[in-house]
Amino acid sequence: MALTKLDQMYRAVILDEAQHPRHHGVLADFDHEITVRNPSCGDVLHLQISEKDGRVNDVAFSGNGCTISQASASLMTDQILDKTPAEIEQMVETFSDLIIKGDVPDADRLGDAAVLKGVHQFPARIKCATLAWKAAAQVLTEKGKTDD
Ligand code: ZN
Repeated sequence: MALTKLDQMYRAVILDEAQHPRHHGVLADFDHEITVRNPSCGDVLHLQISEKDGRVNDVAFSGNGCTISQASASLMTDQILDKTPAEIEQMVETFSDLIIKGDVPDADRLGDAAVLKGVHQFPARIKCATLAWKAAAQVLTEKGKTDD
């Protein structure tokens, strides 16, 4: 399968996100914390979120994983800032739909994260892409509950 110019651009963005992730590290103060794993690939993600006035005001992730899981976590952390848990839950649903179907009408609400839509061509990697997003929705809607 030949890569189109668009695919190449997406690939460059994904590699850059994975190599220079945003919000990578740990927070000194946080309200939510969760560790999630994707056993089929070996991805491990640790996510911390701090909330203020009902919105996410800081977020950080750490752990190890493949390029797609790391890029996706970086893109996710950027998108959930300043959003409410309800908004994030909706965004995570849209993102999961996008990754599974390859396109959704409201993909533009995902901002830069929409570059990951090409993952739908690789069903085995879908969990890599959705891991961080589902972790965020889970920890924000089931307060205090961790995966461990
Ligand atoms: Zn992975």
